[in-house]
Order: sequence, then structure tokens, then C-alpha cells
Amino acid sequence: MSFAGRVALITGAGRGIGREVALKFAAEGADVAVADLTLEAAEDVAAEIRAMGVKSLALKVDVSSPEDALKMVTDTVEGLGKIDILVNNAGITKDKLMLRMEESDWDCVMSVNLKGAFNCTKAAARVMAKARYGRVINIASIVGLTGNAGQANYSASKAGLIGLTKTTAREFASRSITCNAVAPGFIDTAMTQAMPEKSRQALTAQIPLARLGSSDDVAEGVIFLASDKASYITGHVLSINGGMYM
Ligand code: NAP
Repeated sequence: MSFAGRVALITGAGRGIGREVALKFAAEGADVAVADLTLEAAEDVAAEIRAMGVKSLALKVDVSSPEDALKMVTDTVEGLGKIDILVNNAGITKDKLMLRMEESDWDCVMSVNLKGAFNCTKAAARVMAKARYGRVINIASIVGLTGNAGQANYSASKAGLIGLTKTTAREFASRSITCNAVAPGFIDTAMTQAMPEKSRQALTAQIPLARLGSSDDVAEGVIFLASDKASYITGHVLSINGGMYM
């Protein structure tokens, strides 16, 4: 599964799942653009990647801004020559039960998780369409399939991302661009480390494989969907959840 000669652009790659995905693409030989809200975090990951012997760029982006998304794409093409793979990974939570959820909690989760993926896909797809090749992978979530109390905003954004995935797959198939989603279950990152230990234990009890997932578990699925082995897979949602939802 060598990605030598390929260029991957990963959003939210300064830490967590995005960082792991970026490092894995680099380990497989790809040049990688590391985009994040926090430039210092992106720079650290890009430095790690360059030490692996491939090219890497660190980019500051707020994916909820169409201008930022366009600049991120332009800078990647200028710095690394093209974009073969886009991973829409940047995401946030603002959890509250619906009756306590403010309009601003709804709006900001939607604008990063859903509008952010739209902004970045729209910008990168122009480049990919000209090249007649592309792989877009959206990081959705198990709760986009099941719903989750306390996550009206987040689960709706992730369900929306699945709709966006299927539409992107349909609109760009004629340009040999595939688009798929990965729907992780509960993964051991800063996002879930914020949960109380009791809730983490209760969650683990609902997982047939009896552990939270790792960023590596998710990155392996992303790498597969971006590889030539997955060239006839598009519009698919790959669950990586230890059997929590089947
Ligand atoms: P994380 O550790 O919180 O990392 C998220 C990254 O996204 C951070 O580097 C963050 O930057 C960046 N980011 C946030 N808002 C951004 C914006 N507007 N523009 C650009 N970058 C932004 O999260 P994670 O657990 O790795 O999650 C990654 C993705 O997987 C998310 O889409 C999440 O919804 C999804 N997911 C996670 C889990 C899980 O259990 N962890 C499960 C299912 C799905 P800063 O550090 O600057 O804030």
C-alpha cells in the first residue's frame, strides 16, 4: 500500500486521530500537508513527518471559513504540487441536553464539522477534478448513525457528513474521485478523555471488543479507503467501532 508520489491533506492534524492519519500516510511514503487551527501543533507534526524522509507543510486553517479552506488548498498545491487525498478530520463537540443547548452551541459545531468539510471538499475537488483523480475521506462518527443524548448538534453534523459523503461520491465519480466516510466509535483521544471515568467505563461495557478504539484503528481504515485497493469503493461508510453498533 505505498503512497509514494501521492500528496495527502489532513485537517485537524495537530493532534488525535488527524495526527495519527498524517503520520501513517507519511510512513507509507506520501507527502503530507498538516492543517490545523493551532499552527504550532501542525508545525510539530510536520517536523516529525519531514524526519521520516518525505515532504510536509504545516498550515493554519479554520475549516469553517471558506476563505481559509481555499487558501489551505492553494498553499498545498503551491508547496507540494497537487492534492490526491483529502481527509476531512477537523471536528469539535459542544455537548448539552437539547433543552439546554444554545443556538451558538448548535451553530459552531455545524460550522466546523459539516460546513468545514463542505468548504474543504469544494476547494480541493476543483484541483482533483482537473487531475482526474482523488480520494476524499470524511471522519464521521458512530453517533451520526445512532444519535446520542446530549449531542443533538454533533450527531446531526455527523449524519449530515454522511449525506455529504454520498453526494460528493455521486457528483465526482465521473472524475475518478471517490468519497467515503469512516464512522469511528469511541476512540481514546482528548475528545473522549474529557469524559468522566465512570462514563468511559459504562461505554466500554457496551463495546463487544471491550475497549475504546485507538487513533491507529481509525487511521488504518482511512489508509485503506485512500489506497488503490479501494478504488471501486465510493459513497461507503466504514464503521470502526469494536462492534458497538452493527
Ligand atoms: P481532537 O483530539 O479534539 O482533535 C481535533 C483536532 O481538530 C484538533 O487538532 C483541533 O485543533 C482541530 N480543529 C478543531 N476545530 C478546527 C477548525 N475549525 N479548523 C481546523 N482544525 C480544527 O479530536 P479527535 O478525537 O482526534 O477527533 C478527530 C475527528 O474524529 C473529529 O472529526 C471527531 O468528531 C471524530 N471522531 C472522534 C471520536 C473520538 O472518540 N475521539 C469518535 C468519532 C469521531 P485545536 O487543537 O487547535 O483545537
